[in-house]
Amino acid sequence: MANRKTHKFKTEVQQLLNLIIHSLYSNKEIFLRELISNASDALDKLRFRSQTEPAILGDDSDLNIQIIPDPEANTLEIRDNGIGMTYQEVRDNIGTIAHSGSVEFLKLMQKAEQPVATELIGQFGVGFYSAFMVADKVTLITRPPDSSTATRWESVGDGSYSIEETEKDSRGTSVILHLKDAGTNGQDFTQEWVIRSIIKKHSDFINYPITMAVERAETAMDKEGKPVEILDKNGKPAVQTRKTRQEETLNSMKALWVKPKSEVTEEEYNEFYTHLTHDPEPPLARLHVKMEGVTEYFALLYIPSKPPFDLFFRERKHGIDLYCKRVFVMHNCEELMPEYLRFIRGVADSSDLDLNVSREMLQQNQLVTNMRRNLVKKVLDLLENLEAERYEHFYEAFAPVLKEGIPTDWENRDKLAELLRFKSTKSDGQWISLADYIHHMPKQQTEIYYLTGEKMSTLLNNPALEILREKDYEVLLMTDPVDEFVVQTMTEYKGKPFRSVEKGDLGLERIDTKKREEYSDLFTFIQSVLADQVKEVRVSGRLKGSVVCLAGDPQDISAYMEKILRATGQEVPAGKRILEINIDHPLVTKLDVLLKENRDNPALKDYCRMLYDLAVIGEGGKIENPGHFSRLMGEMMSQALYQQAAKNS
Ligand code: ADP
Repeated sequence: MANRKTHKFKTEVQQLLNLIIHSLYSNKEIFLRELISNASDALDKLRFRSQTEPAILGDDSDLNIQIIPDPEANTLEIRDNGIGMTYQEVRDNIGTIAHSGSVEFLKLMQKAEQPVATELIGQFGVGFYSAFMVADKVTLITRPPDSSTATRWESVGDGSYSIEETEKDSRGTSVILHLKDAGTNGQDFTQEWVIRSIIKKHSDFINYPITMAVERAETAMDKEGKPVEILDKNGKPAVQTRKTRQEETLNSMKALWVKPKSEVTEEEYNEFYTHLTHDPEPPLARLHVKMEGVTEYFALLYIPSKPPFDLFFRERKHGIDLYCKRVFVMHNCEELMPEYLRFIRGVADSSDLDLNVSREMLQQNQLVTNMRRNLVKKVLDLLENLEAERYEHFYEAFAPVLKEGIPTDWENRDKLAELLRFKSTKSDGQWISLADYIHHMPKQQTEIYYLTGEKMSTLLNNPALEILREKDYEVLLMTDPVDEFVVQTMTEYKGKPFRSVEKGDLGLERIDTKKREEYSDLFTFIQSVLADQVKEVRVSGRLKGSVVCLAGDPQDISAYMEKILRATGQEVPAGKRILEINIDHPLVTKLDVLLKENRDNPALKDYCRMLYDLAVIGEGGKIENPGHFSRLMGEMMSQALYQQAAKNS
């Protein structure tokens, strides 16, 4: 054809196709679920548009998906009368743009040491390409409802595809798979029973009828309605049969969420979850509610056991599908769940909604607002009541998202606070709740101590903890970047303020003022050497074994926060901190003696700089000149060892 054009697949798409063709062996049958789910989405889109443009349906208003196997040609066609695609949409959607899902799936497959489970493909939204697991050529013919021209796309998956204008007498999309040879142990996807069982297994909950024309033998009747008798090949009398084609609906289209709980089996609940998410793992927990009263609705919600790949992507989707009296209204209904619960998957169905409702209208809809408020409470209750081990599993997977709720959801802050878990200086790697922390507090302790940083091991060894250890106070150790925001927005829990152990004076120890006076000359000296690094040199009340540490003023941002902000590309002025010195440490006495002996001793300045470096290292930071530090340290160690040896001999 004259208008036929050939284009190259985008590199990532071709890489993905190669992997799909060559590395996915198991469970190939899920290609059908993926294509049917695309067809179902196309029908959803059409139905949604028809709410405002009823004429769009024309006389073709039975929305359905047809499966047409042809054993002789070895082809399988999946046909829908949905929204279709324009020429440009085919170009963009299929082959040209590698959307985030395909890029992520590609990365996963390239990284994986073991073969990736085929089932995962659906979660990444790379459904269409899964056709190439079973077909060596794929033809797609599609026409939108309001266009007279159709588009034909075809590829054998070897780097390029062809695209051309064509004709199609009905609206929607046909995907025709030219099947690979089934081989000895492969499935033959043109067999009716094979198709029937795959659809029952993977697509039973699809909301539109999935039909297949099947041949049935029927008894032939005469005009009086009696069976026609003939003689069979052995000359015996027999009933004449006639082959007719009948439409068989292959899926049950069950709407589990409107059923009473007692009528839904565990297996059905899990199957429905797989249907919604294409997640091969069963959900962690579920919530099935029927609300009656002012706001009436059904909801069936699930918590996945693992976070989806796009949890932190900007274009990530929410997980709730909205229905009205079992009729699909929209996917990804953001109005029903706050951002911090975007991982909840499921269905909500209200009979009081207007089917014509638009996204803009949803935001102001009182019913939707009530549903949301209600559902959020129920989800939080569900989480609160999960048994400990399950909850920890959940927390390890979703905590950073859940914590976003603390600064954003005032109404549920108390509930959310109960859901927080932290590790601590005393918890031995286990998670504890804030309630546990309060419970462990000795009577005289009035504040909740915490320390933020990147790594648990560095936090545990931070010198700032020394005084708290001595007092036997527990300190929460926070390594999740959002924790900084959490403590800053919460400020307190049950009347107990949060207190960073690296900021300000903890007020736990009296400092010997006389001793401080004695060292004032030394402190001034150190301060003058470190003028560019620290804003003050101070006697420490928190150090016990270590000689120095860095501290901030209560209004300063923490060192970790500074690091986080820099990592997000923000300009943060390098905040000067306070150098705290332990005046009970013998090193300080020695330094003071040296200073008094000879102020111009060049080693003194080196010692001061090293003190600062030691403080930075102590909290897990990076020193400015590690080479210099390590050389000086080497020199000092050898001096010390020689002195030791001289003394011993
Ligand atoms: P996903 O379905 O996750 O977006 P696919 O690769 O399966 O990823 O499909 C890419 C896009 O192609 C879809 O988002 C949709 O816009 C379009 N598409 C696929 N199948 C159909 C269909 N049967 N009818 C209309 N559009 C379709």
